[in-house]
Amino acid sequence: MENKFAELRKRYEETAALGSARAVLAWDQRVTMPPGGAPGRARSMSALARVVHGKATDPEVGRLIGETWDWAQAKGPDSFEAAYLRVLKRDYDRATRLPSDFVAEMSAAASAAMAAWEAAKKNSDFPSFAPHLEKMVGFNRRQAEFLAPGEPAYDTLLDLYEPGMRRAELEPLLGELAEGMKPVIKAISESSAAVSDDTLKGDFDEKAQLALADELVRELGFDFTKGRQDRSVHPFTTGFSLSDIRITTWTMRDWLPACVYASLHECGHALYAMGAPAGFEFTPLAGGAGLGVHESQSRFWENFVGRSRPFCEWLLPRLRRHFPGKFDKTGPEELYRAVNKSGPSFIRVEADEVTYDMHIALRFRLETALLDGSLKVKDLPEAWNAGMKELFGIVPKNDAEGVLQDVHWSQGTIGYFPTYSLGNLMAAQLNEAMRADMPDMDGLIARGEFAPLLGWLREKIHVHGARYFPADLLRRATGKERDAAPFVRYIKEKYSGIYGF
Ligand code: MG
Repeated sequence: MENKFAELRKRYEETAALGSARAVLAWDQRVTMPPGGAPGRARSMSALARVVHGKATDPEVGRLIGETWDWAQAKGPDSFEAAYLRVLKRDYDRATRLPSDFVAEMSAAASAAMAAWEAAKKNSDFPSFAPHLEKMVGFNRRQAEFLAPGEPAYDTLLDLYEPGMRRAELEPLLGELAEGMKPVIKAISESSAAVSDDTLKGDFDEKAQLALADELVRELGFDFTKGRQDRSVHPFTTGFSLSDIRITTWTMRDWLPACVYASLHECGHALYAMGAPAGFEFTPLAGGAGLGVHESQSRFWENFVGRSRPFCEWLLPRLRRHFPGKFDKTGPEELYRAVNKSGPSFIRVEADEVTYDMHIALRFRLETALLDGSLKVKDLPEAWNAGMKELFGIVPKNDAEGVLQDVHWSQGTIGYFPTYSLGNLMAAQLNEAMRADMPDMDGLIARGEFAPLLGWLREKIHVHGARYFPADLLRRATGKERDAAPFVRYIKEKYSGIYGF
């Protein structure tokens, strides 16, 4: 049996190595490729994708999984071998249940939909995008039916991004979260406290922003011998192996937080990726437990650390050094209030910690209705604007800053948005557990001693890779089930201090 498992591993390593080569091409496309490279790159990437798909769905892989299954389970459900096969089998079943014609059709439709979305967003022209979205909703329904015939489609799609999660568990969590935020949003809107972010606006040299971004992620524990930070149109994280993790950030000359917090966020994803044990290299266990857990790592560093009072104390002298003269009159408390300014906004990615999850609640409501057919695509903009009015009291002036702002639905990813909120909730639970273990966490942050925080995450989360389902991983790390209460507590305590209610 050892031999068969070794054979399976050899096959997987080769598939993963080719997948990694494809990721290099994708990274290059977004970071350094000249525009003229696009057509050739598309051909190289789709050729590689076909080879990878062929290897991943080879019937021999299925046969080896079947033959080694009982042998691996006998080693215990937490054993490397059992976990390895569990994750591999899930991926293999998914890949082989989707007919290759369907995959090709859906991917071509998604490319067309993304191009249509880009143009529609530029011109704020929803009707030109609507037929594409209609198609992508249909593809999602069919995809769910192929993957799990007869099962509720949303559960099947959600499971692609958040293994083990069901709508019946998700809906009450998001509901409790939204109910918790409503009184906070109201109190903030009625508060007369002076909270200004003017100190973060102005003219910030972009080279200096990037130098600061490198310094910040290095201090947090990002290892530049095993990674790089570059600039791209939208910040993202990718990896080619456990010792080559790439992050990107962006800069806005007149708004400093864009660069700082994108860097902290992507660094959180990278630290998770860098923290997997070396033995997970090119195995199915290397990728992390799911998107929600991944987002919990990025949000932990971005918000729970990066927007905390002690972090602002630590950050301020660094801002003064990188931007001479700019922060001479700003104190740490003013900086803390500035990076936590809250209010209703149209754009999800610019939303503060209080309102962010309301943007997700809206998308969850609309995508479930699109999928079950109770909402027609043509009525989506109206439903969007009604939701914005209800949740935020504001209505976007056009569809570009409303229903057309996100790329996700055009890519054909329905069931993805909730993982952002799940990440916030898990980050709050981890934050509570870490503080209980480390009573002087604020002191550590204020002194820039981040290693104990990273060490805690390494031990509780990172070393496990994809070994456990997200819910099991959280239970092992915190002793608790998934719960919205810690996030609600955290927000109430923090924001009542800032806005005085
Ligand atoms: Mg993220």
